Amino acid sequence: MEKNTIKKMDVAILGGVGFNSYKEFKSRAVSTPYGKVTVYLTQIRGKNVAIVPRHAGKNHTPPHKINYRANIWAVKALGAERIISTNSVGSMKGHPVGSFVLLDDFIDFTRSRPLTFYDETTIHIDLTEPYCSEIKTCFTQAFEKRGLSYSEGIYACTEGPRFETRAEIRLLSQFADVVGMTGFPEVALAKELELCYAALALVTNQACGMSPEKLTADEVTEVVGKREAQILEILEDTIENLPEIRKCKCCSAKLGASL
Ligand SMILES: [Zn+2]
Repeated sequence: MEKNTIKKMDVAILGGVGFNSYKEFKSRAVSTPYGKVTVYLTQIRGKNVAIVPRHAGKNHTPPHKINYRANIWAVKALGAERIISTNSVGSMKGHPVGSFVLLDDFIDFTRSRPLTFYDETTIHIDLTEPYCSEIKTCFTQAFEKRGLSYSEGIYACTEGPRFETRAEIRLLSQFADVVGMTGFPEVALAKELELCYAALALVTNQACGMSPEKLTADEVTEVVGKREAQILEILEDTIENLPEIRKCKCCSAKLGASL
């Protein structure tokens, strides 16, 4: 474990899918008021990048037990102003398995997670545009450059670790396109610290009741494995495209939010 001071990070990647090789990079423990976070440091196209493995823990931390506040705090402490998240999701709208969805809004169906840094103060964050428009534009350019298709969609975040019932999916599918267990509260916590956050989702399965066949864990791993190289290319291009100075609204999400 590296204990030396490190230089300021430009971007953080919160993964998710697509980063099985992160352990090859230099690691560092970052202390936060919520506990320590192990991050992996690398350079991508000239930018300093911190990789935060979301499920890192002794036994692949389950979604409802991930220390979301510590992860986001660690990113801020490292000086990174932008977070790019990768998530695996189930489709409620028939997206083919292996397709990419750029998240453009979310609905929160979690119920037991610490979801704010402001337990002692009343602060209301503006989430009209939860995912950073600037990073999304860079994602779009990356997809176009690679000739890859993607769609945009609304993400429903459920508590887990169990999967949803058919009735729940029928309900959720009226409001959202894809479902997963890890996208919230990350996105809101990032906004509370005025960080940019965008999420690239990979469809690894059809949501419960949307397909007659049950997908096995091995098949999900296979889908992720096949797309890993593409995810890396897209992320690299996206990071390269990021403008030096942020001009999005994320920088002022807290403006006028205090009561
Ligand atoms: Zn932004």
